[in-house]
Order: sequence, then C-alpha cells, then structure tokens
Amino acid sequence: MRSGKPEFQIKIAKERMEILIDEAAKRAASDPALAKRYIRLLKRIGMRYNVRIPPLVKNRFCKYCSSYLNIGKNSFVRVKKGVAVVTCNECKKSFIMASSVRRRKAY
Ligand SMILES: [Zn+2]
Repeated sequence: MRSGKPEFQIKIAKERMEILIDEAAKRAASDPALAKRYIRLLKRIGMRYNVRIPPLVKNRFCKYCSSYLNIGKNSFVRVKKGVAVVTCNECKKSFIMASSVRRRKAY
C-alpha cells in the first residue's frame, strides 16, 4: 500500500463515505445545509485516509460547493462528446461525471 494505511482502515473509510452520501440523500430535500455538512465530512474522510471517493459516491455531489445533486432538481446532465457533464444549479459550475470517462464507448 502506497498510502501506508492498513487495508481495514481504507475499507472502513469507503464504507463511511457510502453511509454519509446515503444520509445526505435522505436529508437533501428537507435540510440541504445538513446534506452539505455530510458531504464535506465525506470529502475530509477521503483526504485523511488518502482514499479515493468511490465513483458512485462522487457522482452524487457537486465537487465545488458540496451540494447533494438531485439530477433533474438542482442539477442536470448533458452528454458532450460521449462524456457525461453535470451542471450544478447551486453554483452554476459543471464537471465531468467520474464514471463516464471509462464508459465512453457505451454512449
Ligand atoms: Zn455546486
């Protein structure tokens, strides 16, 4: 392991990130500020344990303002040159979906 962290810690970190994104999803509609807090926490876990945020988790929040992204509600996806680009309505910024690059040929 390049990171020097034990394997079990990395596994726990990933699990915690998944739990946090699920909690953020549950609160996003009623309390967006709390959802943001969960997402900031999740990002910090990734940095502390030097773990990449799983693509399924990463695609669900805005990388700039940490808003939980509800596609169709506060964000939208467009396919540009076979790559899914998400635009966040909260901060009006857009970024490429983490999992779309590898699956480019599927579109
Ligand atoms: Zn945003």
